Amino acid sequence: MSENEETVREIRINPIVPSESVLVATARGMRPRDAEERMDRNAEAHVDRCPFCTGNEEKTPPTILAVPDEKDWQIRIVENLYPVLGDDRSDSGINFGLQQAIEGYGRHEVIIDHSNHGIAIHEMEVSHLQTLFQTYRARMKQLYDSDERLQYVLVFKNFGAAAGASIKHTHSQIIAMPVVPENVYNEIMHSRNYYQKHHQCIFCAMIDEALTFEATIYDRNSGAIRRRIDVGQYVVERGEKFIAIKPFASRYEWEVHILPLQHQSDFINSTDEDMADFASVLKRTMNRLDHVIGGAQYNFFLHSQPHGETCADCPPSYHWHLEICPRTSIPTGFELGSGLFVSTISPEDAAAQLRAVSLD
Ligand SMILES: [Zn+2]
Ligand SMILES: [Zn+2]
Ligand SMILES: [Zn+2]
Repeated sequence: MSENEETVREIRINPIVPSESVLVATARGMRPRDAEERMDRNAEAHVDRCPFCTGNEEKTPPTILAVPDEKDWQIRIVENLYPVLGDDRSDSGINFGLQQAIEGYGRHEVIIDHSNHGIAIHEMEVSHLQTLFQTYRARMKQLYDSDERLQYVLVFKNFGAAAGASIKHTHSQIIAMPVVPENVYNEIMHSRNYYQKHHQCIFCAMIDEALTFEATIYDRNSGAIRRRIDVGQYVVERGEKFIAIKPFASRYEWEVHILPLQHQSDFINSTDEDMADFASVLKRTMNRLDHVIGGAQYNFFLHSQPHGETCADCPPSYHWHLEICPRTSIPTGFELGSGLFVSTISPEDAAAQLRAVSLD
């Protein structure tokens, strides 16, 4: 907590998904949560025994896609050796009473993000990050086109054991599934409701607010200033086409979201030009996070418009984004039991610290 930071203790409702909330409690002496271990990143470029390193291609399942090509690949997509979802099985599930199940049909693939074993996202060239996200986009499109039962293709990255990564070589994953995952479904539902009421995309409204809104709240009796709100304080990084925001009600203390400034619901429709700017905003954001919480384990995941009937009316109301969620502390029983996440640093303070990092 920085010197002049006011103490905050309040429950904040996520404006996009009101059923999610966070308790922001920054008072000094507040018992801190157990810190999640920082990772000593193995910065080696090549590890002989690593199945994802060059020269060991025969140790992974066959290549699905290699960029630029199989011989000199920089990015490679392979089947996951232990998929959580797989191809059709002939024995279809039996539903009985309250026990309903959907066939675990889908695809689970691994994207080797870089031929360099230990390189971090913020160390990758902007052009490489651009190609990486264009590769995600290409594979998402292929998967949606390959089977109309697939309603959602989730792209995510786990960095560090606490974030679920079991192989050290930098990689991300793609899971294509026949249902819309709950987190995305909740965003879809609430943004649709907001659109029906206000004829505007709630994500666009949030971005507008972040870029323009300032307010002062006075005490009604004494006239003293109770609180000054400068919503611009949530902006962490800005490009020509993308913005990185620290959400006002973040579940994770250092959570940052990157969104296109212009409304766009489906990541698949982004252009190469969009991806160039996105890559530079991502690199700068990851660089800021590395300066402030270096070595923190994290997940990032893409939230984009699902395909199929559930979302036929979503294009005007949904807005794709990347959520970056560093795991700096271990959730407590209170959090798991209540669903109310606790943040011991205020999102305003976290954003200020990230903005204060001087890059280049
Ligand atoms: Zn490796
Ligand atoms: Zn929008
Ligand atoms: Zn989201």
